Amino acid sequence: MGDLTGKTALVTGASRGIGRGIAQRFAGDGALVAVHYGSKDTAAKETVESILDAGGRAFAVGAELGAPGAVEALFAAFDAELAASGAEPGLDILVNNAALNFPGRIDEVSYEEFDRTLAVNIRAPFFLAQHGLRRMRDGGRVINISSAVTSTAHPAQIAYSVSKGGLDTLTLALAKDLGPRGITVNTLAPGWVETDVTASRRATPEGRAALAAYSVFNRIGRPTDIADVAAFLASDDSRWITGQRIDVTGGSTL
Ligand code: NAP
Repeated sequence: MGDLTGKTALVTGASRGIGRGIAQRFAGDGALVAVHYGSKDTAAKETVESILDAGGRAFAVGAELGAPGAVEALFAAFDAELAASGAEPGLDILVNNAALNFPGRIDEVSYEEFDRTLAVNIRAPFFLAQHGLRRMRDGGRVINISSAVTSTAHPAQIAYSVSKGGLDTLTLALAKDLGPRGITVNTLAPGWVETDVTASRRATPEGRAALAAYSVFNRIGRPTDIADVAAFLASDDSRWITGQRIDVTGGSTL
């Protein structure tokens, strides 16, 4: 178990799926966690309650990323909730996890879908980093949740793939810039994970088996598979790793 006692983390898209898993793991390791969500406040409340029930500390902050002023609104809520909880102002760990995916090949994607994908998946993380870094203490952590689609070709998800490629590049440039502050910046790239995103594909035994077959372990990833590696990256143990893209696909890309 890593030690994040005294640290404050912001996890975007923590109402459900991988983000919820990361928020729960960070809180279990002692961090105060800001559980961000877009519109599903009930789901965010469930994440917060699960953390509180386990003896951890967390609060929810809502902001529909991609909308004008969303990043500013998110951090205004974050600052206010932090003050209300009696914690020191500031941030130690930012996880850019929230994302959406409009599947489609090159000839199917509309301008609107492309713009929305980039607005949520890369413009928002870019400016969340900009605003988050103004609050981040030296020795902090930025963890970007990318995808296997940036190391293997997925033409049926081309807009999503392009947006995740941008996130990998953001990691690289930021890591160099933030070295003098002792801040590390890394990317985690999951494969198929058991979340709402894959629910319809997992609905039949054949669908489940097909997704499981991607991994050399012949199973679909779980949010905890990603959260455990995120906890390592958030901890002091990972201090000599920065600017890296870490494959967390259960060997799906081998
Ligand atoms: P998920 O279960 O669909 O949850 C998405 C989360 O992001 C929710 O908390 C949602 O908030 C939030 N979100 C989405 N759009 C938003 C917006 N416009 N503004 C604010 N919040 C927004 O997703 P997931 O499967 O856990 O995926 C998490 C991350 O892992 C994503 O970056 C995804 O690309 C990546 N990933 C997932 C898989 C997979 O197989 N699941 C594979 C590779 C990479 P609400 O609850 O309020 O809607």
